[in-house]
Amino acid sequence: MINGDSGKNVSASAAPYSRVQYIEMLILGIESSCDETAAAVIEDGRRIRSNIIASQIAAHAPYGGIVPEIASREHLDRIDSVVNSALAEGGVDLSEIDGIAVTRGPGLVGSLLVGLSYAKSLAYVTGKNIVGVNHIEGHVYSVVFENPPIQYPALALIVSGGHTSLFLIPEEEKYAILGRTRDDAAGEAFDKVAKLVGLGYPGGPIIDKLAVSGHSGAVNLVFSLPRMDSHNLDFSFSGLKTAVLRFVRENSILPVPGEGEPSQAVADIAASFQDKVIRSLLQRVTEAVRRHRPRTIILAGGVACNSALRRAMSEADFGAPVYYPSPILTTDNAAMIAAAGYPKLARGENHGLEVQATASLKLGNILMEGYEVPAKARYKL
Ligand code: ADP
Ligand code: MG
Repeated sequence: MINGDSGKNVSASAAPYSRVQYIEMLILGIESSCDETAAAVIEDGRRIRSNIIASQIAAHAPYGGIVPEIASREHLDRIDSVVNSALAEGGVDLSEIDGIAVTRGPGLVGSLLVGLSYAKSLAYVTGKNIVGVNHIEGHVYSVVFENPPIQYPALALIVSGGHTSLFLIPEEEKYAILGRTRDDAAGEAFDKVAKLVGLGYPGGPIIDKLAVSGHSGAVNLVFSLPRMDSHNLDFSFSGLKTAVLRFVRENSILPVPGEGEPSQAVADIAASFQDKVIRSLLQRVTEAVRRHRPRTIILAGGVACNSALRRAMSEADFGAPVYYPSPILTTDNAAMIAAAGYPKLARGENHGLEVQATASLKLGNILMEGYEVPAKARYKL
C-alpha cells in the first residue's frame, strides 16, 4: 500500500509502472503552461475519462506566435469552464477526485499562474492532495495511455514549440539530460521558417503537409550543428533557420501571398528544412541508443505529430519499440499532467498550497556519468 488509504484497492499484478504500485485513483489534471487551457480526469494513472483542451491558436495566429499577455487572459476566461467540462465529461463530482495534478513549470509565468492558482483553490476547498508537475515530465507520460508499460531504461525525445530535449530515464521519475537545444526549439524553428516564407501559424503542421510535394534535395541549406561529444548530445536549430533565410534572400523567393498557393520553391524549402530537422534529431537519438541501449524510446511533444519524423523513427533500427502519443495527446494536454502526477499522488505526496510556478523549471534530476550540464546555461529549455 502506498498512500496508507485503506479504502483504496491495491493490486501489484496490474502495476503499469515499475516502482509504483497500482492503486485506484481518480486524478484531476490541469495544464496552462503555454497556449492551451486544459483539464482532464484520469483513472489509475493510465485510463482517460475526459481530456478537454481549449486551444488559443486563433487568438495568437494574427501575431504569428504566442503573445504572453493574450495567453494569460485567455486562460483566465476559460479555466473555469474547461475544468467543469472535464469533470462533467469524466462523470465525476469534484468531491470524488482523489488528487489534483497541475503544471508548475516550465512555461510562461502568467499562464502557469492561472492553472496553478485555480488548482490550489480547488485543493483548498476540497482538502485533496495537490502535486505540481513538470510540464516536460508530462510529455514523457503522454505515451502511457496507448502503449504497453514503459520499460526502463527509457530514452525520451521531447520536441515541441518550447522544448527540445533528450533524456535518459534509467528508472521511473529519474531523468538525466543527454542533450537539449542551445537556441531555438524544433517546433519554434518550424514556426519561424513557416512565417519566413509566408505560410500560416502554427508552421509545423503546414510544413509537414507541404513537404510531401517538395524535394528535399532541391535546396542546399548550409549550416553547422553542435558537435556530438561524450559530454552532450545537444541540438541547435537557429543556424538552420538562418540558412533558410539566406537561401530565401539569395534566390529572391517570394513569400506565399495571403490565401495563395505555395510555389514549388517554397514546397522545396519546406521539404529540405524538415529533412534537416529530422536528420539532426535522429542522429542524436541513434547515438544515445548506441550508448545507453534503452528498452523503450519515447517521442513526444507537438513536433512528435510530424508524419515524416514518426516514419523515420519507426523505420530506424533502434532495437527497442518507439512509443508515440496519438495527436490529441501529442500537443499540450492535462491527461499527461495527471498521469505524471499519478506516481506522486499514489505515494501520498502533497505539495500543498506552497507550490510555486517556475518559468524555467528543469527536468534533469540526476546526472549521467560523463555528461555535463553547464551550471550557467545559455540554453533555452
Ligand atoms: P508548446 O506548447 O511548447 O509550444 P506543443 O506541444 O503545444 O508545444 O506543440 C506545438 C508545436 O508543435 C508548434 O511549434 C507546432 O508548430 C509544432 N507542431 C505541431 N504539429 C507539427 C507537425 N506535424 N510537424 C512539425 N511540428 C509540429
Ligand atoms: Mg502549445
